[in-house]
Amino acid sequence: MVHLGQKRRGAVQGECYPGIEPIHCAVLSNTKGLYLIMTTNQLDNLDVDISQMRPEFETQLANLVAIPTISSDPRRTADIQRGVEFAAELLANSGFTTRIVSTAGNPVVCGKLIINPSWPTVTFYNHLDVQPVDPSEWQTDPFNLTIKGDRYFGRGTVDDKGPALAILMAVQYVREQNVPLNFTCIWEFEEEVGSAHFEDFIKAEQATLATDSVLVADTVWQAAGRPAISYGLRGLVSFELTLQTGTSDVHSGLAGGVARNPLGELAHIITECYDATTGHVNIPGFYDDVQPVTTAELNGFTASGFSATDFAAVHGFISMRISKDAEVLSRIMTEPSFEVHGLVGGYTGPGVKNIIPPTATAKLSARLVPNQDPVRIFNLIKNFIKERHPDIQMRMVDMCNPYLGETQGPYATAATDATKYAFGIAPVFVREGGSIGSVLTMSKHLKVPIMLLGLGLPEHGYHSVNENFDWLQAAGGIKLFVKYFTEIAKIQRPE
Ligand SMILES: [Zn+2]
Repeated sequence: MVHLGQKRRGAVQGECYPGIEPIHCAVLSNTKGLYLIMTTNQLDNLDVDISQMRPEFETQLANLVAIPTISSDPRRTADIQRGVEFAAELLANSGFTTRIVSTAGNPVVCGKLIINPSWPTVTFYNHLDVQPVDPSEWQTDPFNLTIKGDRYFGRGTVDDKGPALAILMAVQYVREQNVPLNFTCIWEFEEEVGSAHFEDFIKAEQATLATDSVLVADTVWQAAGRPAISYGLRGLVSFELTLQTGTSDVHSGLAGGVARNPLGELAHIITECYDATTGHVNIPGFYDDVQPVTTAELNGFTASGFSATDFAAVHGFISMRISKDAEVLSRIMTEPSFEVHGLVGGYTGPGVKNIIPPTATAKLSARLVPNQDPVRIFNLIKNFIKERHPDIQMRMVDMCNPYLGETQGPYATAATDATKYAFGIAPVFVREGGSIGSVLTMSKHLKVPIMLLGLGLPEHGYHSVNENFDWLQAAGGIKLFVKYFTEIAKIQRPE
């Protein structure tokens, strides 16, 4: 564990520099006793100091990766609990007052580092649960951190344990610098399964979670060397269609031509809902509320370093509906989509078995963009289907609103300056094609600016085999967060 002041350079024992206000001198202690560290608001030694954090970063990342916190697997409940306890200890060792908050699902680890109640508070959010793995597909053991040069392989390294650690190390650093900022930490263990109990947690804890801003590090740049700040997320409505027309398989030689075929009818209604070749949705009113995108926004997206060719390669596409960079970006970041995820029913074994199935289910969803309302969209789809096929049953599985954050204002400016400071290039503002339910929840209940400052790169393989992270992104991230904290500590609270 890193203890405050343990391995800082430039500590000046027993004196403070003339002309430096007390707030810029921190009294620190180590095993040798108390000493004073000169902390002007310059971050002169930051690069050297960050390079000295590397062994600790790697040790703690290895510790976190070693706990298989797979939230979708009920057999991992004990590992989730172990992960929760380890995370709480990690925070406590960094000076946080820590609580493990129970929910109807997995617990949330909540930490507070309140130095002076009159200072502003920043809340940082990460999730420490991970996606499942198929170890036979991995080149390394997914739960044993493997370091190859600057690269760290292991499940959760980029999503989201590595970025969580980068924030924590930046917090430790600015504490040593006596930056006038308080911290609240929220570490969730259910993000990868849709954050079902996160809203209950936020509501129950609302009084203790008052904050001035939120920082989330769980997003991905479009290309290495081109920092990106995400300000938008797509929403989602997912649902199932079920059609039952019989009670058991019937041979087509006996009933073919007479029996209704639920698989065929579901396939038909799906093609009525959307054109699978172009992706266009045919449901009247589906596009009505889509918020137009400005030219400035589109220019930002195209400056992100995105390449449709690389995109296709990363995802293993043999072909795509469209291939122009700007068009691909626009579709993912600003347009809604309609997808078929599964069609269940009938015979799926080898060869062909001539049966007519009695029932079939289609698993579908639509990704939504600002200002589409998932409930309204669900009802539009439901009415469209019911008019045509009254005996199809439709069940909503999940929904999430789209999100649009700030690209201007003091927090966006601080994020821009900090990114430029850390990575040497101004960031672009982009939107994500996916959804982060917890961001919506925090936006709704905490009602403060949320900055999505992710560190992931396409080659890190979010949710994929051989997931990895790297020291350049981690070190740049620590630098970014240190600068960001330093900047937002200066923001005046609105009257
Ligand atoms: Zn994540």
